[in-house]
Amino acid sequence: MLELEILGGSATAPTAHGAASSYLVHGRTGLILVDAGPGSLLAYCQAGHDLAELRAIVVTHLHADHSLDLMAWAYRWTFPQVRPRIPVYVPREEIDRLRRFDELFGIESLPTMNSPILQSWEIRGLARDGVTSLEADGLQFRSYAAHHSVPSAALRFESPDGGVVAFSSDTGYCRPVLEAAADADIFVCEATYLEADDDALVGHGHLTARMAGELASEASVRRLVLTHLSDPAMGAQALVDAAEVFRGPVQLSVAGETIRPSSVVERGGGAG
Ligand SMILES: [Zn+2]
Repeated sequence: MLELEILGGSATAPTAHGAASSYLVHGRTGLILVDAGPGSLLAYCQAGHDLAELRAIVVTHLHADHSLDLMAWAYRWTFPQVRPRIPVYVPREEIDRLRRFDELFGIESLPTMNSPILQSWEIRGLARDGVTSLEADGLQFRSYAAHHSVPSAALRFESPDGGVVAFSSDTGYCRPVLEAAADADIFVCEATYLEADDDALVGHGHLTARMAGELASEASVRRLVLTHLSDPAMGAQALVDAAEVFRGPVQLSVAGETIRPSSVVERGGGAG
């Protein structure tokens, strides 16, 4: 059964409400990390997970609030022991930026850590075409071209047992994200603002909570999870705005919660 566990959804740094963007999709035998925002490694460990459970990492885009902890994960993956290589997916246009990240933080005197990210994992590109079907721990997933200031991948995970979890990534309102979310059981959608101008929404590429509700409604999703709020204090109004245009259940992403397609929400351990 497909499950979504929330490690954090802050739009910036870790806060008292949890890590920056990071989620776990529970696969057939282990876990798939979606985004590695600051605090994600700590939240993962505090939730009681072992590194051996991790089967793949998928990073929607290389803004720091979604990817900065990749280096922390890579250090952990290679020291003091080198762990088995697992696939790490990023938008394929961005693979070279991982090399530059390695150049900054590689350790020349430790052979296993010269290039921590490239040595730790098998780096694979996301096509963002909505067609290419990938597999991670028994789940099929596809990537879609979200509208953002850097290559950004909306994601759609499908379980063979039924159940779809979709992620908007950071994005403006666009058709590929609608396709990623179509009829999803759980749609994790960014809601960065309550109000914003076109420079933020169309130029840079973000959504208001109301626009997240409109996307969820147009895509006929079953449950909407609002995330990436720029200010935790806007949560109550974000729920109101989204619910005005989306009739189904809507909630905020809360660190430590696990959400199942059956709509059962459980409060977990200590991601904080
Ligand atoms: Zn971003």
